[in-house]
This record gives sequence, structure tokens and C-alpha cells, in this order.
Amino acid sequence: MESGIEIVVKQDWTDLDAARRSMAQRLAMSGITHHEVLQAMATVPRHAFVEPALESQAYEDSSLPIGREQTISKPSVVAKMIQALMQKQKKMGRVLEVGTGCGYQAAVLSLLSEEVYSVERIRSLHDIARANLRPFRISNLRLIFDDGIKGIPQAAPFDGIILAAAGLGIPDPLLEQLAIGGKLIAPVAKSDTQQQLLLIERLSSMRYQRTTMDEVFFVPLQSGTI
Ligand code: SAH
Repeated sequence: MESGIEIVVKQDWTDLDAARRSMAQRLAMSGITHHEVLQAMATVPRHAFVEPALESQAYEDSSLPIGREQTISKPSVVAKMIQALMQKQKKMGRVLEVGTGCGYQAAVLSLLSEEVYSVERIRSLHDIARANLRPFRISNLRLIFDDGIKGIPQAAPFDGIILAAAGLGIPDPLLEQLAIGGKLIAPVAKSDTQQQLLLIERLSSMRYQRTTMDEVFFVPLQSGTI
């Protein structure tokens, strides 16, 4: 029987869950093959890490503003970097993230590592990340307010290091704090307008192997805390 009543369900949690699953499917079709990475991308609710007005865009493949001229990274770039860091491992050991931002990538990393340390240099973003992450009660993630260029010597060595901001090179303390056999991935500026992803593996105490990956666009790595 035709009732004439049309029920329109607008953006609700169910829609966002479906949007997230379809984002993970798009990642799978665009070269992300690591099962656990896809699983983590399909699990972490990215919409919970952006402002309410941007929630409906949370599962598009774009970076979005998070305040203080910073952005939440693009899902495809987050997945690509973590996949490159993990290679065939199902789970990483101790991981350092430089540039917590709103905390999204830290949440993804926490599902794929034994322990995650994430450092942010802007106090207000560190506080926002803390608030965003609180409801998820993630026990293997530590958020630190500091300049990540120095790394975290007291927690080193790290099996994986991931930078969410682009410098002119890789800071020496981060190379020193990488475990032998560990990997680091970072965007590095090639010129004023061009950046490239670099993957570095520490082969021995003195030898590092570097692989150049795709061109990317990240906010700048800056020193000091504010
Ligand atoms: N990881 C975030 C991306 C945040 S954008 C995500 O999940 O989407 C990059 C962040 O790096 C910014 O918040 C910026 O403030 C921070 N950053 C830049 N230089 C830094 C430094 N030296 N130490 C720590 N954080 C830094």
C-alpha cells in the first residue's frame, strides 16, 4: 500500500559507518593490500576527529582543517605510509608519531602496534587530540606535548617512526632513535612547492637504506613548542 510518507534518514552513525567501509574498499582498490591496515582504516571513526561541521566529509579522500593552520592527513596517505612502514609485519612493536594533530593517525597506529608514542608541538592541538581520543580508552597510546624533532630519547629505540609534517631533511635524533631493522617514513621538502615521501630502514648502527616514494603535500615540520 502506498502510504505517501517518505522517511529520509540524514547523516547518522549508520551512514557514517557505511561511508567508512566504502572508504576502506576504495583504499583496497587503490593499492592498499595490507589486511590489518585496511581493517584499522575501516575501524577508526575518522569523523570523530574533525569538527562537527566537517563530519559529512570525513570519509572523502581529502585532508581537512583542524585549526591552527594544521590539517588531518588524507586517509589514502595515512594508509600508504603505515603500509610502507609495516611491510609484511602484522603488528609493529614500539612506534613514534611526530605530529599528533587531532589524533586520528595515532588511533590507527594504536591498532597496529604494541605501543605508540605521539608528539605534538602545539598545546591546543595536543589538548584536542587528548579529548578526541578519550572516549576510545586506548591503553597503548601515549600523547606527549613537546618538539618531536628531538624524538623521545627515554622511550627509544623505536621499531617504526612516522612523521606527519615535512622538514628539509630527517632530523638526526630520529635516525638515532630508530632500532636496527626499524623503519622511518617521512615527507621531505624537495623545493618550496614539492615534497616527497622517504622510507628509511636502519640496516646496522651506521647504515641506513633510503627509498623515495610518491610526491605528497604536508604541513611544515617546525621546531619548538607553542
Ligand atoms: N597525524 C595527524 C596529522 C596532523 S598535521 C593526523 O592524524 O591527521 C601535522 C602535525 O604536526 C601538526 O599538528 C603540527 O603542529 C605537527 N608538528 C609540526 N612540527 C612538529 C614538531 N616538531 N613536533 C611535533 N609536532 C609537530
